[in-house]
Amino acid sequence: LFAAVEMAPRDPILGLNEQFAADPNPAKVNLGVGVYFDDEGKLPLLKCVAAAEEQLLSAKKPRGYLPIDGIAAYDKAVQGLVFGAESDAVKGGRVATVQALGGTGGLKIGADFLKRVDPAAKVLISDPSWENHRALFANAGFEVGTYPYYDADKRGVRFDDMLAALQGAPKGTVVVLHACCHNPTGYDITPAQWTQVVQAVKSAGLVAFLDMAYQGFGEGIAEDGAVIQQFLDAGIDFFVSTSFSKSFSLYGERVGALSVVCDSADEAARVLSQLKIVIRTNYSNPPTFGAQVVATVLTTPALRAQWEEELAGMRQRIKLMRSLLVEKLQAAGLKQDVSYIVRQKGMFSYSGLGKEQMQRLRSEFGVYGVDSGRICVAALNTRNIDAVASAIAKVAA
Ligand code: PMP
Repeated sequence: LFAAVEMAPRDPILGLNEQFAADPNPAKVNLGVGVYFDDEGKLPLLKCVAAAEEQLLSAKKPRGYLPIDGIAAYDKAVQGLVFGAESDAVKGGRVATVQALGGTGGLKIGADFLKRVDPAAKVLISDPSWENHRALFANAGFEVGTYPYYDADKRGVRFDDMLAALQGAPKGTVVVLHACCHNPTGYDITPAQWTQVVQAVKSAGLVAFLDMAYQGFGEGIAEDGAVIQQFLDAGIDFFVSTSFSKSFSLYGERVGALSVVCDSADEAARVLSQLKIVIRTNYSNPPTFGAQVVATVLTTPALRAQWEEELAGMRQRIKLMRSLLVEKLQAAGLKQDVSYIVRQKGMFSYSGLGKEQMQRLRSEFGVYGVDSGRICVAALNTRNIDAVASAIAKVAA
């Protein structure tokens, strides 16, 4: 049966991790994977999470099955966070939200549902995009193309080209948009440019699928989520996948959600019933613990305030690392203008380095980033930044 099965290529980023683990260099630094580490280089356990966990564990609750769409209080808390509890869409019952296995799970439920609703639709992702977007939508049966995004010469977004591609896309095309903190480039579009994107989506009859994996890592929870209001105001149907992996540092608990904004409460009820079939036939129902932790934090005012503070701490530390990196690169003698590093948002930076330079960073200095030039700024800290800056300055010289 398996004689003809071919070896699948290694996941480029997880493969990098394996290479990192095997590297005996004591000064090695892993800037490959998209994970936030604190200034000590440790994966944080947020205090709000630890407090919620203690509360839940001391209640010693039994572990029955959850409903197919997850914990109701969790789904409601997600809606409050993403759309605003007082928004007309939420109050009017027009949003169908289901608990999902991380942001990836939210995207996959949405992709499988879309395939049932409009099997002939094409999907467009940004060029470049999170490496799993293409595979995920392709495996759900879609033809996946790209819209222009990264501008290597200007170090920013090819916005006019992006807009033209959206305006010219066939009706019904599914457009995957990074709501904030674009992965991998770190370049976001401005609120005024979002207005044009929303207009283009509306007038061309496209289906927007917003991927929100880093809310709170750019400028703030409200600022990073502002695009949602623009889509709500446009009065169109759209999808939002939510991930709490980063914003709660709960990577392994797989906590996320999918929300679908519909025209009416009746439509939302029908959509929800279909989302449940997708879930039921994939993994039946979601796990209990992580979503309970997130729901507890989001709905307990003191814990919520603590979360917002801790998230702000992560955001500010990333910003500090960005400006320190620029300073240290210049101090190390780099002639090029690298101020774009502080204009980028979120965990990642397209460093501008090419494949060969990234390979030299690994082999000569033990600094691991992705061949595309992407480095995870959230893995820099005051102990490793000098070595990283000096290594980058050497390979870029
Ligand atoms: N979308 C984007 C843009 C991401 O960067 C990631 C995670 N790296 C995800 C979705 C998936 O998030 P999760 O780990 O919660 O599945």
